[in-house]
Amino acid sequence: MLKIINGKEIAQNLRNELKHEITRIKEKHNKVPGLAVVQVGNVAASSVYVKAKTKNAKEVGIEVFDYHFEDSISQNDLLQIINKLNNQSNVNGILVQLPLPKNINEQIILDSIHPDKDADGFHPLNVGKLSIASNNDNNLIIPCTPYGCLIMLKGLDIELSGKNAVVIGRSNIVGKPMAQLLLKESCTVTIAHSKTLNLASVCKQADILVAAVGQPKMIKGDWIKNDAIVIDVGINRIQYEQNGEIKTKLIGDVDYDEVEKKASAITPVPGGVGPMTIACLLRNTTIAFKNSIEN
Ligand code: NAD
Repeated sequence: MLKIINGKEIAQNLRNELKHEITRIKEKHNKVPGLAVVQVGNVAASSVYVKAKTKNAKEVGIEVFDYHFEDSISQNDLLQIINKLNNQSNVNGILVQLPLPKNINEQIILDSIHPDKDADGFHPLNVGKLSIASNNDNNLIIPCTPYGCLIMLKGLDIELSGKNAVVIGRSNIVGKPMAQLLLKESCTVTIAHSKTLNLASVCKQADILVAAVGQPKMIKGDWIKNDAIVIDVGINRIQYEQNGEIKTKLIGDVDYDEVEKKASAITPVPGGVGPMTIACLLRNTTIAFKNSIEN
């Protein structure tokens, strides 16, 4: 029987655990984690994400420091603000909402965040640690979206070791760290991308298929091995017409109606990977906080 993986529920469980943990530490140390949320400009999607992250963070007991700048801010001024936050002891996590305006080099900004406060897990040091860490290192700061996918896979109560996993997409924020995490679980991992030949037949080998492409409904039913587990990371906003009105909705990279007939488990869009990403951001902030207390 098909299992629809409920990202909302799993994310809520993770947030409950974090809230419990934060309350426990507060009682002992009289401190709570602090998250600085930095937004530049007014990209509508960024404002939605920042609002959701801020709300969720406050709910678990994280103190949020909001920084919202005009898109005219210079790279140097932004670097100075990050530097200040790097040195502020009540800030344990720094999140810079992407994308940044074109005049600012994103990588320079991300690299300027102290690796111990890297709430997104994008700093080269954390990327490197992820690739060399042993499987049971619980203090790692890990990119949020792929870690959320891993939590959902582990919740299925199946043996991941030895499974054929195919990740479609090789971005630094999703595809590559997803592959690292699956490798750490002893999957046999293939990373497919825009230059992969015979993509459908590569996907057909997958016991676990993770789609992180950004192409609506690209993954079709006949690409799927019987009983495969399918994780759809894609978030694509499409327009459709209803009663003469143009509306928008979110759909994934997977053609859900076709793929659900072949898969044994699948994540919906929305309500799958999306909520997990935010919960994992709170997890990273809490880990950074715990690490700061222990050090
Ligand atoms: P990206 O654009 O950086 O990377 C896309 C990847 O897909 C590239 O590596 C490219 O090689 C590959 N690709 C492109 N066209 C392809 C094709 N025809 N065949 C095979 N591979 C192809 O995107 P990203 O940041 O990794 O995000 C991927 C998707 O996931 C997007 O839809 C994004 O909105 C979504 N996303 C969702 C969350 C979430 O929280 N659910 C978080 C991050 C990204």
